Amino acid sequence: MPHVITSLCLRDGGCQTVCPVECIVAGKPEDQWPLYYIDADTCIDCGACVPECPWAAIFPEDEVPSAYTAKGGEKLSQPKGTADFSEIYDGKNHNGEAVHLEGTKTLAAGETVDLTPDIAVNIKFFKEGPGYKAA
Ligand code: SF4
Ligand code: SF4
Repeated sequence: MPHVITSLCLRDGGCQTVCPVECIVAGKPEDQWPLYYIDADTCIDCGACVPECPWAAIFPEDEVPSAYTAKGGEKLSQPKGTADFSEIYDGKNHNGEAVHLEGTKTLAAGETVDLTPDIAVNIKFFKEGPGYKAA
């Protein structure tokens, strides 16, 4: 059961630096693949990436919440052009490099979101998306 990066990911990149089997890949192009993704075939479920994520975006696959309750202020990220994801996020990653995302939205306190569709997105990135070549 691999770990999964959900759409709470804002491309901080810290998780990638600690993964012992280098199975975390930055999505590219960013407007179509805005998250980092975990290769389920390579992940050894060590859990090292989880505490590195400043946005708490990583879960074991069987613990990805189907009803994530927002504290308020978290951002979800989707491919550019996704309906209802029209906010622009400008931040910095763990190396201090600029992160610019054009398909985000801010969650209100108490709002609930199903993050389980992100499981299939991680798989698709490696089976059909650009991760197929990167892996
Ligand atoms: S540390 Fe979190 S926000 Fe950063 S790339 Fe990894 S999952 Fe995404
Ligand atoms: S659980 Fe371990 S092996 Fe899997 S992505 Fe995270 S750091 Fe890498």
